[in-house]
Amino acid sequence: MHCPGTSPIHTFTALPKLLLTLLAPRRTPAVSAPNGNSSSAISVFTSTGFQVLSNNSYISYIETLRPDIAIGLPDVSYGLVPGTKRIAKMGDRTQEWLTQLLAEKREEQAVFAPILPIEHLDQSEYLNTIADDLAEDVSGLAFYDSNLLPDIPAATWISKLPRLSLDEPSSPRQILRQVSLGMDIFTIPFIGFATDAGIALTFRFPRPLPDETALSNGTTFLPLGIDMWPVLHATSLKPLSTECTCYTCTNHHRGFIQHLLSAKEMLGWALLQIHNHHILSEFFIAIRESIKSATFEANCDEFARFYEAELPEKSGQGPRVRGYHYKSEGPSETKKNKPAWGNLGGEDRDVDVSLEPDQPAAELEEKGFAAKVEDN
Ligand SMILES: [Zn+2]
Repeated sequence: MHCPGTSPIHTFTALPKLLLTLLAPRRTPAVSAPNGNSSSAISVFTSTGFQVLSNNSYISYIETLRPDIAIGLPDVSYGLVPGTKRIAKMGDRTQEWLTQLLAEKREEQAVFAPILPIEHLDQSEYLNTIADDLAEDVSGLAFYDSNLLPDIPAATWISKLPRLSLDEPSSPRQILRQVSLGMDIFTIPFIGFATDAGIALTFRFPRPLPDETALSNGTTFLPLGIDMWPVLHATSLKPLSTECTCYTCTNHHRGFIQHLLSAKEMLGWALLQIHNHHILSEFFIAIRESIKSATFEANCDEFARFYEAELPEKSGQGPRVRGYHYKSEGPSETKKNKPAWGNLGGEDRDVDVSLEPDQPAAELEEKGFAAKVEDN
């Protein structure tokens, strides 16, 4: 596939040249919008609230940002199960938007056709149009639901296109399953989720290091990662993962990472993210080698014998949650962030003063702060 290399989106995100960028109108986890999509635009949740994103604007963003891969605008609704009429519209609109994008894009721009998260039969007309009319201009397929992979007819040109997963695999085992179904390229939100939870990933494909294999005896499984919040790591001089060659593991030990997390120091999460990305890169390198040597299936069985199926539960807190991370669900929600400060030596008092700027003066006064000056 042709990848143009450095681009405004690389510059803006400070990503190195060798990393592929992709642009899709989607966030993880997806947020359902109060207004539905229209025949020319979709409704998306952005850092400045809900916005309407038209296909025309989206095409102009692709032109400006020049990602390595652009995914066509899909008509997908989150939150509601679409009815029959809606399903028919989804295929029609997605097809129309993709056709327009392909007609207006720069020649070297790689565009992947979105495959909708609905039954194969319900979008067969759209898929046939890609195969018959848009064949030459589409560079790959982007699956919103990886379960549709086996439905793509084999031995057609469409089955030869690279497949990208926009699904959300929750564990390495799910990635392996998708690879066995024929997925080629992945977006993996769990790297970020693990980092936010303070978890250092530690798995290796197809098996752990020899000194770790003894710890798994067929009934006990090795965890896929270590929760770095517990104080037991505070004095540990070990790296996050034995023999890991990432920047974090070659420069810092567990004790330092644990200290940074407890101090809510952003560097802690940055170092964890560097390590977690490295673990996934190594995982994919090993998968490619395994496929090349035709041992992939046996290696997957081996991996399942050693490792737990899911990532460890989150125990600690993540970094402060910002407004654009979550959409408020209603008035009686609990606060996402713990107050940064409490009362000085106030363990015995059960009032909780967070000193947030929007706290009403009367409430502060009640808790013993300076009296409010009454207006004359
Ligand atoms: Zn590492």
